[in-house]
Amino acid sequence: MGKDASEFFSEIEKDDLKQAILNAELDTSGEIRLHVENNCPGDVLDRAAYIFDKLGMKNTAQRNGVLIYLSINHRKFAIIGDSGINAKVPEDFWNSIKDDMLVKFRNSEFSRGLIDAITQTGVQLKKFFPHQSDDVDELSNDISFGKN
Ligand code: CA
Ligand code: CA
Repeated sequence: MGKDASEFFSEIEKDDLKQAILNAELDTSGEIRLHVENNCPGDVLDRAAYIFDKLGMKNTAQRNGVLIYLSINHRKFAIIGDSGINAKVPEDFWNSIKDDMLVKFRNSEFSRGLIDAITQTGVQLKKFFPHQSDDVDELSNDISFGKN
């Protein structure tokens, strides 16, 4: 039995991550979620898409949910957006965010890398999905921790 994924971050880091999501969503109607788990033996994009679905992340009015996925043990990560985002943004939309995450993860700066990715996602999404005055928090800002 390995360590539970939820123990990977300190309580302060978890609060900071949740706060980063809340702050990012003040700029955009897009909904950002973070899923962290130990293992991802297969294809990381397939796994992220599965988690996206499992977390009910398609349940947004504008189909503008974004999942940031991290597998701790396999050192794999992904960032995927729903169809509403893919229809509007250029194909390389996530590249700079991914590059930046990779650099930080290589230095084992996991919470820093994730917080910056969340912040940048908010900044980028704002251009296509600005925050609305009648905004609803459609998807929980809590970190989702996997059991596998
Ligand atoms: Ca919202
Ligand atoms: Ca939210």
